[in-house]
Amino acid sequence: MLTEYRNEPFTDFSNGDNQKAFTHALDVVKKKLGKDHPLVVGGERLAIEAEDWLVSTNPSEPKQVIGRYAKATQAQAERAMKVACEAFENWKRVPAVDRARYLFRAAAIMRRRKHEFSAFMVLEIGKSWAEADADTAEAIDFMEFYGREMVRLSAPQPLTANPGEENELHYIPLGVGIVIPPWNFPLAILVGMTTASIVAGNTVVLKPSSETPGIAWEFFALMEEVGLPPGVLNFLPGAGSSIGDFLITHPKTRYIAFTGSKEVGLRINELAAKPQTGQMWIKRVVAEMGGKDSIIVDNCANLDEAADGVVASAFGFGGQKCSACSRAIIHKDIYDEMVKKIKERTEKLVIGDPTDRKHYMGPVASKSQYKTVLEYIDIGKSEGKLVCGGNAIKNKNEGFFIEPTVIQDISPTARIAQEEIFGPVLALIKADGWRHALEIANNTEFGLTGAVYSNNRRNLEQARHEFYVGNLYINRKCTGALVGVHPFGGFNMSGTDSKAGGRDYLLLFTQAKSVAERY
Ligand code: NAD
Repeated sequence: MLTEYRNEPFTDFSNGDNQKAFTHALDVVKKKLGKDHPLVVGGERLAIEAEDWLVSTNPSEPKQVIGRYAKATQAQAERAMKVACEAFENWKRVPAVDRARYLFRAAAIMRRRKHEFSAFMVLEIGKSWAEADADTAEAIDFMEFYGREMVRLSAPQPLTANPGEENELHYIPLGVGIVIPPWNFPLAILVGMTTASIVAGNTVVLKPSSETPGIAWEFFALMEEVGLPPGVLNFLPGAGSSIGDFLITHPKTRYIAFTGSKEVGLRINELAAKPQTGQMWIKRVVAEMGGKDSIIVDNCANLDEAADGVVASAFGFGGQKCSACSRAIIHKDIYDEMVKKIKERTEKLVIGDPTDRKHYMGPVASKSQYKTVLEYIDIGKSEGKLVCGGNAIKNKNEGFFIEPTVIQDISPTARIAQEEIFGPVLALIKADGWRHALEIANNTEFGLTGAVYSNNRRNLEQARHEFYVGNLYINRKCTGALVGVHPFGGFNMSGTDSKAGGRDYLLLFTQAKSVAERY
């Protein structure tokens, strides 16, 4: 009997034993860095002697190589498609309950080795201990949740009785899915999209992010360890521009599960829409994309709680969350006081190599992110008044550290108020009143997360209906969605609102078949 689904608890790092265990995990992971990793297609290791490698490095110390990961060629991508198609013929017949068992087993092993998975992300992408721990907890949650969801969907579905007929509805799998995750939740989102696909009976070609192939490999190895049949999950790192387009336009691709930027998501949507010779279906695209998320602070809000929420949402993992607050829209009556409170809190944040637990914020993820964020800071300085931060942080290891930066008096239509920066940059916008604040909150092309701090019931009710985002939070921060508790996904250019971690999610990876038999 399955136990009731529960969220994986976060680790209490104030506890000395947990600190020791995490330090030990960092040591264990460091010992396995620097190795070469092949592609894996149908259980077979390919490209062991690859000519072209993705070299994953530590953003806190870019000279440290996490590992080299073979880059697939188009011929290898073609092979992966063929193998995934063949594997689908058997996998789709495996009972849903048995498919779910692979997820539960993987969740159990990941739970036992959770600090190792988290420590890997501290080194590969610069997450703090707490952020990495939350990422791993979310990955475990996805497996536990989707396993149970598939068991639910495979049970007899309620239908209206029609005398003289026996009626059934089954959720059957789609076929071969291409899974394309981002680097910012390199474990949780990858695991979520991949295991939802697999448990629903599909087979997968997984193309991990080029920034984080290492943690993707760790997960792939775990699925091999739990005995997932060869070919159900194929590990295929490579360049988006070569194998990405190839896989998306392949006639045997049945669907694409993507999480990443608006630009890449729209391109995938466009490429997938065009039928190819020999293609038998309309490809499905599940695309979760960028955000430009706002927190409104009303004049009657608890200002200390609001300032805590704004700063945590803006600078947790250096603002590199799709849900991060990048705009605080503040009522004019309390604007100056809020600016002061946000400044005080931001200046207290401790930045540095996240292998050291005392560092709240690590580096930005890569050299290209570093360059982009610094450019946006310059744009922001010309669009408003710098409150704090605003500089790169020099360091001996040449890590990509940037000060958490707050810029005030930003116009609602300024570039840093409209474009996704994806870094530690927060724009403060003054609103003339509540209605104006809500208008500003809805003035971007995105619609992912948002929050409101207010004690005015009428305003809160209005926000419930008129703040147009997929995930709205009231009197709390706008990051930290929990699987099963806050199904996650955005409106407008933020994506197809797939609601990861919700009861509707697996329906995106299945099709419903109704069978009626007349007696
Ligand atoms: P990205 O769009 O650059 O890359 C995402 C993935 O797409 C990566 O695996 C990348 O290798 C791949 N890719 C790039 N070009 C491709 C192509 N031509 N064909 C196929 N694949 C291609 O995004 P990123 O920088 O990895 O992640 C950050 C973005 O993700 C931000 O915009 C953030 O808001 C968004 N995001 C959204 C959510 C959400 O749930 N809405 C969650 C996390 C991140």
